[in-house]
Amino acid sequence: MLYVGGKWVAEGEAAVHPEDRGYNFGDGIYEVVRIYKGKMFQWDAHIARLFRSAREIRMNLPWSAAELGTLARQLIDKNGITEDDDATLYLQISRGAAPRVHDIPDSIEPVIMGFARKKERPLAEMKKGQTAQLIEDIRWLRCDIKTLNLLGAVLVKQYAKDAGAQDCILHRNGIVTECSSSNVFAVKNGALYTHPADHLILHGITRQVVIDLARENGIPVYEEAFTTDFLKQADELFLTSTTAEIMPIIAVDGQPVGEGSIGPVALKLQDLFEQHINASVLV
Ligand code: PMP
Repeated sequence: MLYVGGKWVAEGEAAVHPEDRGYNFGDGIYEVVRIYKGKMFQWDAHIARLFRSAREIRMNLPWSAAELGTLARQLIDKNGITEDDDATLYLQISRGAAPRVHDIPDSIEPVIMGFARKKERPLAEMKKGQTAQLIEDIRWLRCDIKTLNLLGAVLVKQYAKDAGAQDCILHRNGIVTECSSSNVFAVKNGALYTHPADHLILHGITRQVVIDLARENGIPVYEEAFTTDFLKQADELFLTSTTAEIMPIIAVDGQPVGEGSIGPVALKLQDLFEQHINASVLV
C-alpha cells in the first residue's frame, strides 16, 4: 500500500497530477529511512533533515513530525513489515500541483507520497567492497538539500557504470565531495577524512553516525576538504548511506585502494555500526 496525497492506494493505482511541480520541476524533497527488524533507524535525524530541506526550499509543511511518524509506522504495518524484516521507507513531498510557472505559487498544497518495502542488507557486498570512478561533480551548489531533482546524480552514476565501475566519487576542481548517493570517507594513518557538511554535500545521517561512533571509539575524524591526490594515496576508502551502510571502495579508476580489499578501519566501523543497530532495535 502506498500513501498518496492523503489516500491509501494499491501499487499501480497511484496517479500524479500532470502539473505536479515535483513531476514538472523536481520541486520537492524526500527521505529514505532504514527499517531494521521492523523498527525505524535514526528517524529523528531523518525528520529533522526533511524539515530543514523544506525550510531551505521555502515549503511550509502542513504536518507535524509526530504526524509523519504515525504515517511512517502505518506504512510499515500496512506493508506487512514485521520485526523479522529489514526494509526501507520512502517519503516524498512535492510542492504540489499548480499551473506551470517557475516562481512559487501563493496558495499551493504540498503532496505527500510514501511507501515501504522489504529490503535486505548488503552484508556480503559490505565485506567485498565496490569499485568507483572519479568523476567531476556536475551537480548544483545546494547539495545539502535532499531534493527530488536528481538528474546530476543520475548522470554521474551512469558515467561510472559506462566506465565499468559500480559507483562514482565526485570532485569539484580536484576537491573530493561525495558520491552520487552516498558520502565518502578516506582513511589515512588510522584517521578518517570527509568533506565538511556544507552546501556541497548531503549531510548524510549515516555519515554522522559513523563520525560519532569513530570519535567515541578513539578514531580521529577530520571533517576537512581533501584532494583527489590525497584520495589516491588513502589507506582505505569507504562510502556511507542509509542503504549501503559502510561500503568499502576497493579500487578507484581501476587502481587498487590499499591492499585492494576491505581494510581494518572499515571493518572496525562496520562492527561498531552493527552493535549500534542492535542496541537501537532493542529500544
Ligand atoms: N549523499 C547523497 C548525494 C545522497 O543522495 C545520500 C543518500 N542516499 C547520501 C549522501 C547519504 O545520506 P544518508 O546516510 O542519510 O542516506
